[in-house]
Amino acid sequence: METLNPILSDVLNRARKTAFYQDRLPNSSWENIPLTTKSDLRDSYPFGLLALPHRQIASYHESSGTSGKPTASFFTEADWQDVVSRFLRNAINVSENDWIFIKTPYSLVTTAHQMHRAAEMVGATVVPGSNRTTNMSYPKVLRLLSDLPITAVWCLPTEVCLWAKAARQLNLNPITSFPHLRAFLVAGESLAPSRKKAMESFWGRPIFCDYGSTETGSLGGQCSHGNMHLWEDRLYFELVDKVAQNCGSLVVTSLHRQAMPLVRYNLGDVVRLGAADSCGCGSRFRTIEVLGRKESAISGPDGPVFPIDIEEALFSLLELPGDCLWRAKWMGDRLKVEVDRPFSNALAELEMKLRLPITISYVEDILPRDHLMKETKFSKPKYLLSADDSWHSAITY
Ligand SMILES: [Zn+2]
Repeated sequence: METLNPILSDVLNRARKTAFYQDRLPNSSWENIPLTTKSDLRDSYPFGLLALPHRQIASYHESSGTSGKPTASFFTEADWQDVVSRFLRNAINVSENDWIFIKTPYSLVTTAHQMHRAAEMVGATVVPGSNRTTNMSYPKVLRLLSDLPITAVWCLPTEVCLWAKAARQLNLNPITSFPHLRAFLVAGESLAPSRKKAMESFWGRPIFCDYGSTETGSLGGQCSHGNMHLWEDRLYFELVDKVAQNCGSLVVTSLHRQAMPLVRYNLGDVVRLGAADSCGCGSRFRTIEVLGRKESAISGPDGPVFPIDIEEALFSLLELPGDCLWRAKWMGDRLKVEVDRPFSNALAELEMKLRLPITISYVEDILPRDHLMKETKFSKPKYLLSADDSWHSAITY
């Protein structure tokens, strides 16, 4: 391993202190190091990836996938400084002048804590809303956004759409009823550029994107030119299982993590990377577009079609407004699409763009009206369903 970059060499030495990595990191080339998978993380629960004594850990987190088996993650205070300082690079530019409404979960996952610590670091005011709780109905969200000088919100992209719907039901105007609100910062779901634009237009405010996970914290964030950049000075990124030269599954190695070193961790996300130095903002870091989980795609004649591809086509071709919800089912031979707002007829263009046979219909109650006024425990939506899935599993409460 003589030729290995000293920073990566350090990473391996730290990782060898964990039960999981101690016998797993060969002294040969970097490419011979096996990938770490989500399943490895699950199998190592609770302490297999812990590299330090318990007393040095600042916080414990976990996420649970569909299997229900948790993956644990650990951070020291220094780890948190690393995560939060890169998260703060986002062009939304959180500052001491902001009141930040945190509408992502506090329970076990890192998302809300990341924003909470970031806001504290710059002296912003925190309004801790959380998510997946019965204590944060949408009328209450809108009351807080209206009555408090909240300037920025941290939430899932879909919630930006749902609050617009709820506002209309309450006779509030998304553009004029929340005078202090200046921007949204979103993460946790892929968001097609055309839908983002429609939402921004509907709210009259910009939406900024972040990309990360509970295991790693922020991996990339949006720049002033609207592109998302990877934090390549803090993390080492590789592409595996390539479907094109610049497109494949993203693998990350944490360069500075103390509590839980991750070596060649396959995030399971298919991404497209831009060239370094290609963005007008002047960043030296590569840009990233997150297409989605490999298993979420359907097989089209020209390769995989991800939910974000469908979303981009719908919002760019059908003139859908920013408060429109959609869902689709792959029936094996055609795509059945439903949208809850009237649309311009562009079926031929849609089929040509996605290279799939499509039927599309207007379904007014994708989300029943009274749901938005109830106490909600909103979860991440699944816009592209399989033939056997219930339509109601797209957006769940
Ligand atoms: Zn840029």
